[in-house]
This record gives sequence, structure tokens and C-alpha cells, in this order.
Amino acid sequence: MNKEIFLYNSLSRKKEKFQPINEGSIGMYVCGPTVYSDVHLGNCRTFVNFDIIYRYLNFLEFKVRYVRNITDVGHLEGDTDIGAEDKISKKARLEQLEPMEVVQHYTNGFHDMMRIFNTLPPNIEPRATGHIIEQIEMVQKIMDNGYGYVKNGSVYFDTLKFAKENNSYGKLSGRVIEDLLSETRDDLKNQGEKNHPSDFAIWIKADPTHLMRWNSPWSVGFPGWHLECSAMSTKYLGETFDIHGGGNDLKFPHHENEIAQNEGACKCSPANYWLHANMLLMNGKKMSKSVDPETGVSNSITPQELFSGDSPHITKGYSPMVIRFFMLQSHYRSTLDLTNDALLAAEKGYRRLMEANKILQDLKHPGNGSNADLDKEINSLINDAFVDMNDDFNSPKALARLFETVPKINGLRAGHLSFNDITGDTLARMKEVFNNFIFEIFGLKDETHATAGSNGNGALGGLMDLIIDIRQTARANKDWATSDKIRDTLKEVSIVLKDGKEGTTWTKE
Ligand code: AMP
Ligand code: ZN
Repeated sequence: MNKEIFLYNSLSRKKEKFQPINEGSIGMYVCGPTVYSDVHLGNCRTFVNFDIIYRYLNFLEFKVRYVRNITDVGHLEGDTDIGAEDKISKKARLEQLEPMEVVQHYTNGFHDMMRIFNTLPPNIEPRATGHIIEQIEMVQKIMDNGYGYVKNGSVYFDTLKFAKENNSYGKLSGRVIEDLLSETRDDLKNQGEKNHPSDFAIWIKADPTHLMRWNSPWSVGFPGWHLECSAMSTKYLGETFDIHGGGNDLKFPHHENEIAQNEGACKCSPANYWLHANMLLMNGKKMSKSVDPETGVSNSITPQELFSGDSPHITKGYSPMVIRFFMLQSHYRSTLDLTNDALLAAEKGYRRLMEANKILQDLKHPGNGSNADLDKEINSLINDAFVDMNDDFNSPKALARLFETVPKINGLRAGHLSFNDITGDTLARMKEVFNNFIFEIFGLKDETHATAGSNGNGALGGLMDLIIDIRQTARANKDWATSDKIRDTLKEVSIVLKDGKEGTTWTKE
């Protein structure tokens, strides 16, 4: 197995040969969701992208420690660092819930969605509120090193001093202090009590009505948003680790400030390789929850709407694996545009791949093949699929190699191509590689044939497992409209759902 991989490092803005700190092991930290609302499909795309990376590194037999956090405090409205309400506090206030009820509810929903998309859980999933002590310690270290200052109980990171002494603030996003100054010149209201507009809060004094607050040497307050990732990555992966990932909207200010905090605290760089996944668009525009005043429709779609087809943006529902397939058809660093046509094409592609694999797994070699051109062609396609993955995880190219192999599979079955032209070993390798790619690396599940699911019953059983899964997620999200619609529509075709302690079962009347 060739473990020589090349990664595009956002820090150096070029592809680099990957060299783990400890031979054979990898520490990877990915910024997780802020759990104040349902995950949207854009979030899912980022986590599916990193799931494919995690799966591939595992496949290459690296020992990976994958840490993905849950942000449950400190992320303020408008992604600012001062002067706005904490997103989770706000939700708790509006819904009259404990902040931890909000956190638990949306964390459960996030986990359900990750399972539906068949993403593997991280090895460690730390929460910001569970690591307040570590965050206070980090603020103290930053203060001890002279990069923090206190104003009225809040602590700010001194970006000017840091930039002067380290010559480095802005190295990830490419924004230098002067640019930041001119960008923020019109926006001095955001400066508040900071010495400089580009400084950012690392500890925020809470006003008396703030729901989540902790004692600290500076005030009763809460940590700044960027701090949790610095503190938790250090705790679980060490001061310097291999890979840090997230969506590319996090590059600035979140990741830039993470780097400053880590360097400010330990005088060492946190991650050697920074990987950024690109955004999900819909109909060419960034997916967003805000409503277009002209059309009255928002340019966004929830996973549930995609599954059920209940959205003006699509003509029908698509299964989770079709959506996963759709996602892996584009490289993680490219934008991906969700359109109904693209989803229809993905559905066809997914079925074609699954069908071809079934045919392939059933092929039997008669036993007297040779190492002819066909054999070489197949082997080189397979080898190239791995070369593509080693080249910054190029899943669309690797997928294209599998598709180029499909006519060979069909030809062998139909007899247009001869088994005399491939060896038994090549056929066996092809079978293994298809299974590896489809199920282990791409993380697809076969929804195209009957699965003997909990409800048995062949194709219908598989379908019903899927529908019940979708309804379960709707219910977990208190989306009663979708949940009722599923139950009532099934009733119209004489399928009755029964909710019990052990989950939901169904019967056909
Ligand atoms: P948040 O819950 O807002 O902190 O976001 C969780 C993750 O989803 C982050 O890594 C974001 O960069 C990512 N993300 C947010 N919006 C999108 C989008 N439209 N497309 C892809 N990733 C996104
Ligand atoms: Zn983060």
C-alpha cells in the first residue's frame, strides 16, 4: 500500500508531501458544529468530506486519532467576538430551556444525521463547556507571555504585539494587520474596548443576565469562540499535531485566531497541515437560511426536505446515499452546486455503480486467463484510483476510474470481452478494490437491493427501514409536520406505523 500522500496545505498554499509527526500515526482535529439549530446540508458536506479523508487514512492503515468538537458556548451571533448574544444562550432564552437542553437536543440531531449519512464517529468528541479549566489555563499562558490584556474583566488577544514579535499574524488567511486595519476602519464600533480592531476576545465578562458563565481570575464570564479549539486540540493531540480541518469560511477569523492563541500560549505552531473544505451552493448561490425578498423562498434545504422531496427546489426525494454519492463526485476543495438535475444524475450514477459492483462480485473466472492488454488496462485504472486519492484525496477522479472500469465488467459478463484476457488474480483484485472503494473509503451503503433490515421483507423492508430512519430524525428534531406526513401517506397505501419502546415497526394491512 502506497502511503505517500500529498495534501494541499492552506498554510503554504501549495500541495505538500504529507509527513506525519510520528511515523504511522496521525492526529487530526476538525471543527465541529455549533449546536444551536439543526445542521444544514452545507455542514453535512463538510463533515462527509472529512469522513472520506478519515476513512482513507484508516484504509492506508494509519493509526488516526480524529477529534471533532461540539461548540456549546462562546459562539456569538454574527460570528463576532464581542457585543452579541451567545447563539446557544439566545436559543435557550427564546425557547425557555436550559442551555444544556438546547445543546443535547441539537447534538442528538447532529449525531442522527451523521449516522444517516454513514459518517464514522470521531475518536474523541470534546465539548467546549467540558473544557473551561483548560481554556482558562490557556488564557493565563497567553497573558504570561505578554499577548493578552484585561479590560473591565474581559481578556483580549493583542494582535499588534503578536504580529510585531512573531511577524506572523495573518499567515493562514493572507490578511496582514494593515489590511485588517483598513477593512475595519469603517467598523470601529466593533472595536469596543479593544486596543486595536483586529484584537479579539479570549475571555468575555458576562453580564448578569447571561445564562452560561464561569469563575475565572478576570471575571465571571465565558471563553471566546476561538479558544475552545486551541485548548481542546492541545489537550487531545498535543501542542503540535498533524492535520487541522474545517470549512473554508472558518479560515478567518476562527483558524487565524486559533493559530495566534496556540503560538501565543506555547510559542509553537498547532497543526502542520491545514485542510479547508469548500462550500455547498444551491442553484449557483451560497446556501443560506435567509429568505429572498423577491421569491419569498430561502436558498437552503434541510436534509429532511431532500429525503422527502418536500421543497420547491427539487422535484422528488433523494436517499441519503444518493446525496453522499453526489458529494463525493466533487473534490473537497471545490464548491459543489446542488441542483435538481445534478441530484438526478447522482441518483443514476449511484445506481449504476452499485449495479456494476453486484455484477462484478458475481463474475467467476474460468481459470485460464492471461496478462493481455485488457488485464493491464484494468490494473492501471485501479492503480490510478489510489494515486488519485493519494493526491489530496481526489475522490471524483478516483470515482471516474471506477466508472471507466464498468464497461469492462459489463463486457466480461456479456461476453464481448474475454476472460482469457485477464488473470484470475486481476478479477479478484478488482472485486476487492471495488468493495474497498465503495463501502470502506467512500462510505456508501447499498440501498439498491433488498436489505434484510429490522423489518425484513425484501426491497420493501429496505425501503421501510430508510423511511422509518428519516421519520425518526424528523421526530428528534420536533419536525412533526414531516413525521405526520410520512405516517399519513403510508396509511394511504395501507402501511401502518407503530411507535413503541423498541422503536418503530410497521405492518401492511
Ligand atoms: P457551524 O455549526 O456554523 O460552526 O459550522 C460547522 C461546519 O460546517 C464548519 O466547518 C463550517 O465551515 C461548515 N459549513 C457551514 N456552512 C457551510 C456550507 N454552506 N458548505 C459547506 N460547509 C459549511
Ligand atoms: Zn474550531
